[in-house]
Amino acid sequence: MSSRQQAGEEFRRSVRDWLTAAVAELAGACVDDVAVRKAWDRKLYNAGLAGLTWPEEFGGRGLSLLEEYILHEEAARAGAPEGNGRIGRILVGPLLIKHGSPAQQQRYLKPILRGDEVWCQGFSEPGAGSDLAGVSTRADRTGEHYRVSGQKVWTSFADQADRCLLLARTSAEAPRHHNLGMLLLDMRQGGVEVHPITRITGERTFSEVRFDGAVVHERDRVGGETDGWRMAMAVLSDERGPIEAITRYLVMSRHTTMLRECCARGSRAPELDEVCARVETVRWHAMRGLENALAGIEDRPADSVSKLMWSHTWQALAAYGLRLGCPRHEQAWQQQYLESRAASVFSGSTQIQRNIIAERVLGLPR
Ligand SMILES: Cc1cc2nc3c(=O)[nH]c(=O)nc-3n(C[C@H](O)[C@H](O)[C@H](O)COP(=O)(O)OP(=O)(O)OC[C@H]3O[C@@H](n4cnc5c(N)ncnc54)[C@H](O)[C@@H]3O)c2cc1C
Repeated sequence: MSSRQQAGEEFRRSVRDWLTAAVAELAGACVDDVAVRKAWDRKLYNAGLAGLTWPEEFGGRGLSLLEEYILHEEAARAGAPEGNGRIGRILVGPLLIKHGSPAQQQRYLKPILRGDEVWCQGFSEPGAGSDLAGVSTRADRTGEHYRVSGQKVWTSFADQADRCLLLARTSAEAPRHHNLGMLLLDMRQGGVEVHPITRITGERTFSEVRFDGAVVHERDRVGGETDGWRMAMAVLSDERGPIEAITRYLVMSRHTTMLRECCARGSRAPELDEVCARVETVRWHAMRGLENALAGIEDRPADSVSKLMWSHTWQALAAYGLRLGCPRHEQAWQQQYLESRAASVFSGSTQIQRNIIAERVLGLPR
């Protein structure tokens, strides 16, 4: 066993022990409850398990993606809550570590890790989703301040968020891709209205957000005044990395257990092996991405392949579960089926991933 693997196994043991005890302390609390999820974020922070890959100077542990992967695997095994600060930890924190000013790093990173401040990601608009460069929310500058007006949509966590990572037009004249800025906007101010949207699952996890004169100081702009597109690309690549694929694998793996239970209860089982094999393929693909990342190899098209694989596999798994008609898990399969449909759209739609693969891997003409 290499020294890295050995260190990984030691880390796994300590994390497993801690998680077993911490999850037992939850003693039946609802893991979807916002207060429980917030408290979980704080618990992870206090145990030194938040921001494993963040540099120590920003409150992280300076560990590798391997430890991050192990933590996810053990958390799934223990049935731990997801935590509430996902957007902050996965998207905003890494962006600020790479591109934020020292003052932004000082102000925002620790509250993200502690779970004290919840963030949302204000990119998509009614007229700009896949075509993100077309955002029309304006950030008009007067002196040191921007005044923001416009509308965002599908903004996850907006109803709980303290802050928003906002992509907005900072220039009326500059050409596409050079007319955007990335702003850190305080959601708790006048000029911000949040209207939750009910999903097909009945949940209200995202919202429409309207801005009418909300203010952002220039010190809360990440990068230069028209660096927004570059910042947005950095954020989106973090969104599709191997840890995301592994997280999806872990959830699906739990659902294959549910599938097996349904089949064991006398339901039909012809597709079971195929679906389970597809789920394992997602794992191996994600592991390859992890290995590349650990070796410092960046492979964006592979992240697109991974996104396609896990979204299609999740949909196939949920559709199969629903078709089995297992009375014990019927409601769970209905929920999974409806929820899995969104995977064709979020984190870059299926068609957009196919375009990336066609152009950047296969070299097909645009
Ligand atoms: C559950 C969920 C959570 C989300 N959370 C957030 C969030 O927190 N913050 C945020 O900013 N956004 C969020 N989104 C929005 C998401 O990023 C967008 O829905 C996505 O980018 C697609 O944009 P759109 O909905 O405008 O669809 P469109 O871009 O209008 O696409 C419509 C259809 O056309 C296809 N299409 C578009 N362009 C092309 C092309 N060039 N070639 C081929 N086909 C194309 C698409 O694949 C899709 O099928 C979330 C979405 C979901 C479902």
